[in-house]
Parts: sequence; structure tokens; C-alpha cells
Amino acid sequence: MKLLVVEDNQELTEDVCTFFREDGFVTEAAYTIQQAREKVGVYSYDLVILDLGLPDGNGLDLIGEIQQQHEGTAILVLTARDSIDTKVQGLEQGADDYLTKPFHKAELNARVHSILRRRISGGSHQIQLHELTVDLSARKATIHNNVLNLTRKEYDLLLFLVYNKNLLLTKESIAEHLWGDHFDQADNFDFIYNHIKNLRRKISQAGGKNYIRSMYGMGYKFVSDPS
Ligand code: CA
Repeated sequence: MKLLVVEDNQELTEDVCTFFREDGFVTEAAYTIQQAREKVGVYSYDLVILDLGLPDGNGLDLIGEIQQQHEGTAILVLTARDSIDTKVQGLEQGADDYLTKPFHKAELNARVHSILRRRISGGSHQIQLHELTVDLSARKATIHNNVLNLTRKEYDLLLFLVYNKNLLLTKESIAEHLWGDHFDQADNFDFIYNHIKNLRRKISQAGGKNYIRSMYGMGYKFVSDPS
């Protein structure tokens, strides 16, 4: 899962980024609207944590732009205490949820996971696809009730593939999703190849079908109905 934190309070931003990184997210930070705009113009994120009071403008203005460019990106708005109007505006413009500052990281964590669950599986803690079950709370995948012994990156990769099932995912988009914007392309393409290979092997050893297809020279596709 990939997260962008847009917040001008550097300490808070680093704190939030570290917290989610330790939870297995890829995190990036932007401290101004301009920086955020540059990032969402080039990269895609599963979720943007968006502060509204930014030095070069109001974060509300970014909501529409983010959604126009990336329909799948969820937005969690951070607002100052007592600005109910702003919360309402944020939600009206399409934010998924809001959180009032100051907040506890446990609360932020719960909101983020609940938004992502809603986006990925309609709020359910599980994604079920034939014999494959992905348990989002336990971060665990099973085939015919056999737990797949996945590394964190393999799990993230599987979730990314399942989330985008039947869509071609380029190697670039997979690398960007798994490692963020500071990756060495050449190295990571080999990593992706290896992760895909291991994931396929683990699925097949557990008795799963051949869901992951290589699209020669382009990338990979998770097919929801492999024959
Ligand atoms: Ca601020």
C-alpha cells in the first residue's frame, strides 16, 4: 500500500510516515500544495492524508485534482479542531473521511485501514476469489485454507494484483507501488520478476490456479477467471 502525507508540519509528517512504514506501507511526503501536485501528477497512491492548512493554499483544492487523475486514490482529510465547515466541505468534495488534529496515531491507523478496506473490499476484512482468500486485517492469504507463507512484499504485491485484477500492471507501476519514487529501476525489475515467480510458486503449491499472467514485454495481469 502506498501513502502520501501532505502536511506542512515536518515533525508530524515524519512521525506519521515512520509509523506507517513500520506497518509495511510505502510512504512519501509533500509539505506544500505545489509538491503534492507534482507527486500526484506523476505517481499514484492508494491513500493521501491531506492537511488543509498548507503554506501555499487550501488542501481542499487538491481533492478534485487527485480524484480526477487517480480515481482509485482514497483521501483522508486532516483538519484543525472546530472547523466543522471545512470537514463538511472536504467530504462534499469527495474525501473519504476526516480526522481532527491533534489525533492519536492509533485513531489515524484505524481510519486509514478502514478507508482502504472500504475501497478494496467494500468494507469487508476479506477478499474472496474462488479458492483464494486475502485476510486484510491479518495480512494473510490462504488457498483452500492453506496459509501462503508470503513475505511482506509478496503480500503487498498480491494485494496490488488482486485490487487491480484483470488490468495490465506495468513493471513500472508495480515498482512504484512497492518501493515508492526512489527505486533503482533496473534492480527492481529483477526484484519484481523474483517476487512474481515466488508468488506464483506459493499459490500453485497450495493448490491455487494460475492467476498471474505475464504480458510479454509489458508487465503482469491478475486474471480473476483463469481457465
Ligand atoms: Ca498545516
